Amino acid sequence: MKIGCPTEIKPQEFRVGMTPDAAREAVNHGHEVLIQSGAGIGAGFTDEDYVAAGAKMIGTAEEVFAQADMIVKVKEPQAVERKMLREGQLLFTYLHLAPDPEQTVDLLKSGCTAIAYETVTDDRGGLPLLAPMSEVAGRLAPQVGAYTLQKANGGRGVLMGGVPGVAPAKVVVIGGGVVGTHAAKIAAGMGADVTVLDRSLPRLRYLDDVYGGTFKNQYSTAGATADLVREADMVIGAVLIPGAAAPKLVSRAQLSEMKPGAVLVDVAIDQGGCFETSRATTHADPIYEVDGIMHYCVANMPGAVARTSTQALGNATLPFLLNLANKGWKQACEDDPHLLNGLNVHAGQLTYYAVGKALGIDV
Ligand code: NAD
Repeated sequence: MKIGCPTEIKPQEFRVGMTPDAAREAVNHGHEVLIQSGAGIGAGFTDEDYVAAGAKMIGTAEEVFAQADMIVKVKEPQAVERKMLREGQLLFTYLHLAPDPEQTVDLLKSGCTAIAYETVTDDRGGLPLLAPMSEVAGRLAPQVGAYTLQKANGGRGVLMGGVPGVAPAKVVVIGGGVVGTHAAKIAAGMGADVTVLDRSLPRLRYLDDVYGGTFKNQYSTAGATADLVREADMVIGAVLIPGAAAPKLVSRAQLSEMKPGAVLVDVAIDQGGCFETSRATTHADPIYEVDGIMHYCVANMPGAVARTSTQALGNATLPFLLNLANKGWKQACEDDPHLLNGLNVHAGQLTYYAVGKALGIDV
């Protein structure tokens, strides 16, 4: 199969759909890998790295789309890319179609077969192609929060780990799923005093079994949250209610009870945010202040560490990518119901129920 990987063109997107390692694996399986020249630069991969892996460099996106049987990307295809998709072509990338009727209509019109990373599942009920980005965002959250806590950045001037004789920062993580657990691990590793709140008792039991002694956990009620937030130097929002907007768990009125210069990092901002005062920001201007409390609300946190994110995503997508290339999408989806769950569009037909329901299109 000819596998094509164009340069990402969405603003501020530095990741790339295939690493040189992924290209080498595909070449070793007998496939031809076509990489747009310069596609890996944002993630620190040169054209020479890809050539050494056996890939062929292609000058333009138009040529990649025209020649490839399968297109592998990171972000949903932009309008100009959607025009280049053709009938029978396979697209493997993040799509997030439910809130995006324009993209959905274009994909249906193109006649392509589109498999969305975000709806591929695994045996444990998880989303294996979303999890790596949650791991990245979770681990990044205390890092950006610690920077924001510094005086020059508007913060309280508190060091995460304290020093001998001085107490460490108090960090509260709301939501103990993938993002929250990784955030708590890193914050605790920096020496902070960390408490994780979650509404799921099985999850709290798991956190206690595995991380008891590293960080504390507590059942998430409005009262417990208010008490912990009042005392916190940093609050990390990491809740998710699948298919719904994030619940608002800290109100504007509560900000006035917090310590001046405390920091809110709202990782759940891509679902609307879990603090009332959150609004999405960008890497170019990530931090703002409301009532003396600093907010960091970047909706695309993994983009800040494009190289790590590309490698993490590449590790997760590779086995699916190889199956699609080796067997063709039909056989690969027949053999793997989890990959089949990724199928969102085929030959002008929407094939994912939740997207159809959200957009009022027959499935
Ligand atoms: P997850 O499903 O693994 O974890 C969510 C957790 O929230 C669950 O354990 C759930 O029990 C808990 N929860 C739900 N309601 C709660 C409440 N009221 N109080 C406390 N806990 C509650 O999800 P995840 O992968 O960790 O993702 C968390 C959020 O981060 C999602 O909104 C996701 O889209 C977002 N995210 C953002 C970025 C970014 O760049 N900003 C990157 C990755 C993920």
